[in-house]
Amino acid sequence: MENTGFNLENKRKLLYKRKRRRKIIFRLTLLFTLIFCVSIYFILNSKGLINRKVTLSPPKEKEFIVCIDPGHGDFDIGSKSPSGSLEKDIVLSISLKLGELLEKENIKVVYTRTNDSLPWLDDANDSLKERIKISEVFKSDLFISIHCNSNYDDTNAKGIETWYKLNDEESKDFAEDIQLSLSNLNYTDNRGVKTYAKKEDALAVLELNSANSALVELGFLSNSLDEKYLTLDSNQDKIANALKEGILRQLAVDN
Ligand SMILES: [Zn+2]
Repeated sequence: MENTGFNLENKRKLLYKRKRRRKIIFRLTLLFTLIFCVSIYFILNSKGLINRKVTLSPPKEKEFIVCIDPGHGDFDIGSKSPSGSLEKDIVLSISLKLGELLEKENIKVVYTRTNDSLPWLDDANDSLKERIKISEVFKSDLFISIHCNSNYDDTNAKGIETWYKLNDEESKDFAEDIQLSLSNLNYTDNRGVKTYAKKEDALAVLELNSANSALVELGFLSNSLDEKYLTLDSNQDKIANALKEGILRQLAVDN
């Protein structure tokens, strides 16, 4: 009996020991598994292999801004045709049409003037600087100055020409796109793209402008054929559309 009691006590102790050992093994396994998992996590994380949920907002598409500069305005009439058509009126009308077309293409448009009054003091030098200032403030991508020519020494002189910034390939490219679009309308001579020979002769609106810029002369108001074309509303629509096409080609290049 005593022997049996001893055996039972021994068995209980043995069972207890086994149970403890299993508990310790279980805890150690758990601990090592945890250490293993944590180590794997840190290794993968350090190598950037774990996909994190990115909650950043999607990048905004860059908005293109075109500054349209209708030349002259107010007291400054620009060129005048023998019949009395004024450069400042023709270029304003075409500029507004162009702006409307660009806005339909979701392009932001900034004008240096939207009517016959100038939003700055009436000084010719200030006028040019103020036009550039508007373009700079809005951080325009493109700046287009719109004008008409005249030559009363030679009233046969006619045609379109587009001016670009001296030694500036981007500006030259822009001017070429504008010139090509307009000459495709075939309403007058194609006088090509031009730049000034010397810095002193620089066209201020181009030279002082940090935006890619061009200045277009749509035709000669001193020439009766050019004048007739430029003053007709339906032709102004065509010109505005051609200018838009030239600008869109530029934006496609920038993209
Ligand atoms: Zn002009």
